[in-house]
Amino acid sequence: MSDDLQSLIDEWDGLGVVVSRHRETGSWIFIALHDATLGRPTGGCRLRTYRSPAAGLRDAMRLAEGMTYKWAAMDFRYGGGKSVLAVPGPLEGGPRRSLLTRLGHLMNALNGGYGVGEDLGTTPEDMAFLATVTPWVACTSGGGRAPDPGPFTAEGVHAGIEAAVAHLEGAPDLAGKSVLVQGVGDVGHPLARLLGESGARVIAADIDAGRARAVARECGGTTVDAREAYRTECDVYAPCAIGATVNARTVPVLRCRIVAGSANNQLEVPEDAERLRRRGILYAPDYVVNGGGAMAFGLMEQGIGDPAQLRARVRSIGKSLEEIFREAEADGSSPVAAAHKRALRALRREASAQ
Ligand code: NAD
Repeated sequence: MSDDLQSLIDEWDGLGVVVSRHRETGSWIFIALHDATLGRPTGGCRLRTYRSPAAGLRDAMRLAEGMTYKWAAMDFRYGGGKSVLAVPGPLEGGPRRSLLTRLGHLMNALNGGYGVGEDLGTTPEDMAFLATVTPWVACTSGGGRAPDPGPFTAEGVHAGIEAAVAHLEGAPDLAGKSVLVQGVGDVGHPLARLLGESGARVIAADIDAGRARAVARECGGTTVDAREAYRTECDVYAPCAIGATVNARTVPVLRCRIVAGSANNQLEVPEDAERLRRRGILYAPDYVVNGGGAMAFGLMEQGIGDPAQLRARVRSIGKSLEEIFREAEADGSSPVAAAHKRALRALRREASAQ
């Protein structure tokens, strides 16, 4: 894909992008607004260093598009949006707050046209600070700190793994099933805990070997060297670290029956969904199975705070996946194609009602 800003925007089917240069820190701010059919474009703010401003813009656009389908597949009343703070290097203290202040001012200018939450590189402290500048920060009304989305996301992934096992075996029983959790961080750690409680055999893989060992110990599981993750025999491979781990190089060597994890953009290219299908590996589409954190935040924004109720709603991700797996099977297509159709149906339903 071209790195040229103009052609990037030209080729995109989203609503538009707000671009701002923050000279004080040498950063770029991109707010990508993909679709507002279902409601206010809403999605996290990612802060990281990119090799070019265009790479940051492309990330914002791709992530915003993903949010459109994530909200639509869950039938939630939010649209697809995402922001990226493309920084030249580590940014702390006053300069970091100054950049966040600019983002807040842009959001105020949009007057509710974009809602933000935490994402890779931003912290609950960043969101609490941003909430002092703009009211459009998820779950911070009344000056509170937003909760950690990781455990909610893990809960949804756990329900998704159960749904995938049930689809193959008729029952959502994880006892004795081996699940390789790649990346035992904010999501992978609570997921490993839930899996351990369900009687699954956790295999933890993390580039931080100490962290993998500690999590394995806690869940009565084992570890594997992070480089060996793809070749390790298991029932379920749960990618919970980085994107694009499912690709033309890894699919042929995978020794699992199911891929279901929290990482965003797990497929390197769309064709990888077919590659998995041809190998007989059931794939839980990433934007459906990892929607638990977003869903919980959406519900909390609507005033639902009861943990049991939140948990039950997040676990409904399992039911959505069951329907997606069945539709894919009936169509002879991949679950990705079925999930996409489901999201488009929700968008069309709303568009025709407007
Ligand atoms: P995190 O940074 O807390 O944890 C990631 C873990 O992966 C770390 O322990 C890191 O050491 C490890 N890791 C990094 N590269 C690795 C590699 N190549 N092999 C093995 N381990 C590796 O991140 P997180 O919040 O747990 O998110 C994990 C993934 O899930 C990300 O892709 C994120 O975008 C996605 N996601 C997270 C949430 C959420 O609620 N946090 C929601 C939706 C999607």
